[in-house]
Amino acid sequence: MRPSEIRPTELTPPEQLLLLMERIYRYGMTTTSGGNLSIREDNGDIWITPSGVDKGALTIADMVLVHKDGTVEGKHRPSSEFPFHRLIYETRPDLRAIVHAHPPALVSFSIVRRIPDTRLLPNERQICGRIGMAPYALPGSEQLGRNIADVFAEGVNSVMLENHGVVVGAEDLFEAFRVFETLDYCARLEIEASRFGRPTLLSDEDYETVRRESKLDIPTYPGGDIDEKEMELRRSMCAFIRRAYDQGLFTSTQGTFSQRLNGTDFLITPYGIDRKYLQPEELVRIQGGAGEEGKSPSRSVRFHQAVYERQPHVDSVILAHPPQIMAFAVTEEPFDSRTIPESYILLRGMPKLPFAALYNDPEKTAELFKPNTPLAIVRNNCLVVTGQGLLNTFDRLEVAEYSAKSILAARALGDVVHIEDAEIDDLKKAFKLED
Ligand code: 13P
Ligand code: ZN
Repeated sequence: MRPSEIRPTELTPPEQLLLLMERIYRYGMTTTSGGNLSIREDNGDIWITPSGVDKGALTIADMVLVHKDGTVEGKHRPSSEFPFHRLIYETRPDLRAIVHAHPPALVSFSIVRRIPDTRLLPNERQICGRIGMAPYALPGSEQLGRNIADVFAEGVNSVMLENHGVVVGAEDLFEAFRVFETLDYCARLEIEASRFGRPTLLSDEDYETVRRESKLDIPTYPGGDIDEKEMELRRSMCAFIRRAYDQGLFTSTQGTFSQRLNGTDFLITPYGIDRKYLQPEELVRIQGGAGEEGKSPSRSVRFHQAVYERQPHVDSVILAHPPQIMAFAVTEEPFDSRTIPESYILLRGMPKLPFAALYNDPEKTAELFKPNTPLAIVRNNCLVVTGQGLLNTFDRLEVAEYSAKSILAARALGDVVHIEDAEIDDLKKAFKLED
C-alpha cells in the first residue's frame, strides 16, 4: 500500500504490526534481528511479531496470535520477548500496545545507563512522559519481564533497558510508536548537541510560557468545498510533508508546513496528525484569520499568519527541528552558513532568536524574515524556514540540516575554513542576493 492510501485507524492488528515494524526498520530504528511489537485485544489475546524472522521482510501471515490460555496460532514462534509483553499487560491493564527495539542512539544511552533528556525542546517531555530504567537481565527471561513490569507498575510507560534497548507501552500501537520515535529523536539530538558541550535545558518558566501562549483559540468558519486547484496544491504539500518525514526533517507529529493561497489566506498542517500518512483533506485552510471548522491547525498558526501579512515575498513557511541543526539551537554554538556556496546562497545569515520569539510576539518576529533573512534558529525550539514555493522552502530546510551535519562531522577532521568576505560579495553579485 502507498503511504498516501494508508488510513491507520482502519487497519487490523496484524496489519498494524506489519506497518509499524516496516516503519521502524525503514527508518533505521531496528536491525533484522532486533525488536518486537505487540497488540492486546479486548478479550486478552495478544498479537505479536514472530521470533527471529527478518524484520525487514515480514508479511501479515508471519504475525502470531497468543490466546489468553497460552495456545498459539501462526506459522512461527511468538517473539522470544513474549514474557515481558505478557507481564507488562498483566501489570497495566490500561496499555494495549507495546514497542520494543534497539535503535542505535537509544542503545548508546542504554550502554552508558543514562536516560535521554526530554527537556531540550518544548514538546518532547509531554509526549514521552516519565521514563524509567530496568536492570539488565537475560533476553527472553521471566526475570527481564519482572524487571521491566516493575517499572511499568509505577505508572511509567517508557522504560530504558540496561545494555539492551527500550520498551514503550501505550493505548494503541501508533501512540507507542510516536513516543518511541520521539524518545529516539531526543537521544539523537542530545548526542549531536553534546559534541558542542553541555546542552541547555528548558526551565520551568519556559514551560510556563509554552503552556500560556500555545492555547489556540482562533475563530472558525464552515470549511466548504475544495476546488481542484486547491486540491492539487494540498496533494503537493502532502507529498513534501511525507518527503520531509522520509528525510528525517520532520517526526511523526512535529514539523509544520504552510503555503499561501490568496492574499493572507493559507493552508497549514494539522496539529498532532501523523505526517507520514497525512491526507490532503486533513490540511487546514486559514481564511481571513479563521480556521476550517472541525480541524485544529498547528499551534504556531499565528506566526504563519503574521509572516504572510508582513512578508509579501514569502509564500511558504516551515517550522521544523531536525536534530543536527537543533544541536546549534540547544547550545551556544553559532551557526555559520559560509561553508559552501549552496549553503550561503540558500541560508544566508540565519540568526539565533530567543526561545520565546514565536510565542510572545509572533508579529514582531515575523518582521525579521526579509529577503536577506530567510531562516532563523529559535533557541531550544525550532528552525524557521521561509521561501518561495514548496520546493524552494523544502530545499532550504534540507540544506540547513545537511550543512549542520557537515559542520558537526568536520569537527572530527579539523578547523572549518569559511568562505571569505570578498568571495561572499562575488556570490551575492553572481546570484543576485539581496543585502
Ligand atoms: P525476537 O525476534 O524473538 O522478537 O527478539 C528480538 C529482540 O529484540 C530480543 O530482545
Ligand atoms: Zn531486544
